[in-house]
Amino acid sequence: MPVSADNESLKKQFAEFLKRKKYRGTQERFNVIDRISELDRHFNADELYLYMNGRGDRISRATIYSTLDLLTTCGILMKHRFQGGSAHFELASRMPDHDHLICVECGRIEEFRDERIDEIRDTVSGKLGFRPMAHSLQIFATCHDPLACPHNTQE
Ligand SMILES: [Zn+2]
Ligand SMILES: [Zn+2]
Repeated sequence: MPVSADNESLKKQFAEFLKRKKYRGTQERFNVIDRISELDRHFNADELYLYMNGRGDRISRATIYSTLDLLTTCGILMKHRFQGGSAHFELASRMPDHDHLICVECGRIEEFRDERIDEIRDTVSGKLGFRPMAHSLQIFATCHDPLACPHNTQE
């Protein structure tokens, strides 16, 4: 898969962050960015581990965990904690223009967009003396069709 210009600017941002924090910028860490943008969906650390090793990247779980933490700290990734399970990640560039519906039975995650939520965010913030920057809304639910439910996010 060709590397997009977008990935290049993310890598540049990541390289500057690593340098500032005096972390080593190994090729492995940068490769993680490519794989994440290939995935283009929510994932947890284990899913990324399986995905990358399935693609022939020999990367350890420890490296995945530490790289995901670093990418989150530097703002490239958003970390979600859906219903106390394992943390899910997605590229911050996919946010903040959507919110999430999560099935508590099967873990299915759907993204949605409704501008009324932006209005609520803005009025509530204004009323309480805040200037809103972003928001994150998670609706916990169950799939409408019980037969369709046990599809999970493992692909
Ligand atoms: Zn999302
Ligand atoms: Zn479900």
